[in-house]
Amino acid sequence: MSFFNRFTLKSKLFILSIFILGTLVSIATIGYNYVREMKKDLDALYFGSVMPITTLNGIIHIYNHDIKDRLYQDELTYDVSRSLVKVNTLWNAYIKSYKEEKELPYIDYTTKLITKNEDNLLKMMESCFQGCSVKKIKSMNLLDDIELLESAIDNLIQYENKMAKFQRHKTLTSYDSIIYKMSTMLLIIIFVVMLLSFFIFKSINATQIRLRKTTKELKISNKKLENASYTDALTSLFNRRYFNLIYDRELKRAKRAKESLCFMMLDIDYFKQYNDTYGHLEGDNALRSVSKTIKSLLKRPSDYVFRLGGEEFGVLMSDCDEKASCSIAQKINKAVLELEIPHAQSQVSQYLSISIGLVVVQASMDLDNEKLLIEADKNLYEAKASGRNSFVCSKINS
Ligand code: GH3
Ligand code: MG
Ligand code: MG
Repeated sequence: MSFFNRFTLKSKLFILSIFILGTLVSIATIGYNYVREMKKDLDALYFGSVMPITTLNGIIHIYNHDIKDRLYQDELTYDVSRSLVKVNTLWNAYIKSYKEEKELPYIDYTTKLITKNEDNLLKMMESCFQGCSVKKIKSMNLLDDIELLESAIDNLIQYENKMAKFQRHKTLTSYDSIIYKMSTMLLIIIFVVMLLSFFIFKSINATQIRLRKTTKELKISNKKLENASYTDALTSLFNRRYFNLIYDRELKRAKRAKESLCFMMLDIDYFKQYNDTYGHLEGDNALRSVSKTIKSLLKRPSDYVFRLGGEEFGVLMSDCDEKASCSIAQKINKAVLELEIPHAQSQVSQYLSISIGLVVVQASMDLDNEKLLIEADKNLYEAKASGRNSFVCSKINS
């Protein structure tokens, strides 16, 4: 018996949904953490390398275009001091971004170069405003110092470029590893969910099969019970209860269709004496043989044979005329006699015999339900009175 068979269908579906829900929450949590990790990498790439490069390029640009241009044009104005302020702002922004220990000496060195250049330029500006010419001042190795600063910043740009490449490589590696981990995890989860679903559905299927089997068995036993309630245990003919049902139904149908209907009442002759002579068990055997014989002569699906009680039988035939009905009654008389069941105490034959009272009616809506029974009973009485082992037939109008 599988592990899941001990749970009800509702519990099985509950377990499955809880598992799927749990799995989805875990995937979402793990995915969220991975995305956060990737965001950190991207931040490191952007703020750690790309932004500093832009800042350093900004400093180079100011020196190249704003400050040097003025020097080449041999004029120094307040624009230069504004440019120096911009350089300072950019440099301060740069040194605030994350730096590794090994970068610090070079950064100090560059800071000194920036300060030196700034001092020089400010001094020069002062001299210029006091009347000294720029050309003269340029001979003070100012350009060399600027070149030195530019080359230091260039080195820093190259270093940051290298770092950006390294950080990009790190980000890509971490991206690949996340994709790999997520795919592996998803595959494992899908596999586990499928495995679990397989066992749960297998168990549900087994329950369904069992349920279908039980329902089928229940239907069969219900049918058996129903049949048993309509069947006589000794003869297997329909019983009195079923007779009441069928008699009403067939009568209604015949009335509606205005069809003919035949009802026979049959009673074994001197059966009390038979029992007395041969015993009750032999009596039962005789009842079974007679029942079988009567049944064998009535083969149409619309013919019904009943054991009405004791050694009394009833036959109901629809759409059957008087002649055909009489012929059947005659055949029954003959067939029962031909069973050659010895009956020493019978006063009509050495064998067991039967008497039949039958009535045929052309049904109409006016037909009284009791009339058929009364008339058949009357005819049976007549058959008994006229010497037994015979039939009396009559046709009545409804
Ligand atoms: P008649 O020819 O006038 O019909 O006489 P009879 O003896 O057949 O009629 P009566 O109604 O007096 O007797 C019916 C007998 O049928 C009585 C009973 O012993 C017997 N009998 C009724 N039911 C059963 C049964 O299930 N098994 C056996 N063995 N005998 C039964
Ligand atoms: Mg009787
Ligand atoms: Mg009898």
